[in-house]
Amino acid sequence: WAKAEGRGRWAVYDPERSAADIARSALAAGLPAALDRGEFVLHYQPIVSLLDGRMQAVEALVRWRHPELGLVGPDRFIGLAEETGLIVRLGEWVLGQSCRDARAWQREFPEQRLVVSVNLAARQADDPAIVDTVADVLRRTGLPAELLQLELTESAVMGTAGEPLRSLHRLADLGVRLAIDDFGTGYSNLAYLRRLPIHCLKLAGPFVEGIRTDGADDTADHRDERIVDALVRLAHALELWVTAEAVETGTQAERLRSLRCDTGQGRWFGPPVPAEQITARLRGGAVA
Ligand code: C2E
Ligand code: MG
Ligand code: MG
Ligand code: MG
Repeated sequence: WAKAEGRGRWAVYDPERSAADIARSALAAGLPAALDRGEFVLHYQPIVSLLDGRMQAVEALVRWRHPELGLVGPDRFIGLAEETGLIVRLGEWVLGQSCRDARAWQREFPEQRLVVSVNLAARQADDPAIVDTVADVLRRTGLPAELLQLELTESAVMGTAGEPLRSLHRLADLGVRLAIDDFGTGYSNLAYLRRLPIHCLKLAGPFVEGIRTDGADDTADHRDERIVDALVRLAHALELWVTAEAVETGTQAERLRSLRCDTGQGRWFGPPVPAEQITARLRGGAVA
């Protein structure tokens, strides 16, 4: 934080600054205290098998219960937390809370083998200390490593040096699963897929969005569908799992299933909800 001030980023008065900038800075300035006061909460979104409807995993998605603004979504503060460096502490909290919740689900529903999937910011993944952080969290919470999945974007995987991150091998050696988030939207070449111990590709929302929805199957040349088809084949050729993100309709889910996509996530299967609602869904013996 002091570093951010040292750069004069938040401290300098500039009449030219837009109202939006000022609001951004105010939000950023409030982040550290918010973490200390426990204002962050995790919601979990089901990741569901397209074959049998079983809930295989949940993705942990952080929200800020802001005293004045109400529930603030991560798109408004994760970037700020990355810029100020707070993402490291916030990310550790997310990791700890996710693994505690997942451990509780594992205790109550051992048969379910529910995986918790946690987003790692580039800055977290790029820090070699991440390996010890993850190992510590697993030890402290008692969560089996294979029930933790870490989601990284393509750019995070490539690291700041433009080289695939070495620590990913060490994370995989711990037994955790690694997923590429928003696959297909980054700029990286695919060479990293040959070299890294990746377990899962998460197909980015925009491809899924382009999959024909009810009554609108004559609009285009099914380009997105063909891309999804090709990406699923690529993933399976590499023995990776494929999750489709942002599945919003039953038609999309059905198409994705026939394209052999393994799992889906999105409003169709359920929005992100507090941990208790995931517990209730598991108690209900819910297939979906
Ligand atoms: P993401 O990892 O790609 O997460 C998926 C986003 O899609 C979530 O937005 C989720 O609520 C949203 N979504 C769910 N269902 C649907 C749907 O049917 N249609 C569409 N269009 N979107 C859907 P959310 O929760 O606002 O999170 C946004 C991003 O913030 C995440 O994208 C992730 O990159 C980041 N994020 C969230 N939590 C964390 C965290 O704990 N750490 C880090 N580093 N990043 C996080
Ligand atoms: Mg994600
Ligand atoms: Mg994503
Ligand atoms: Mg994203």
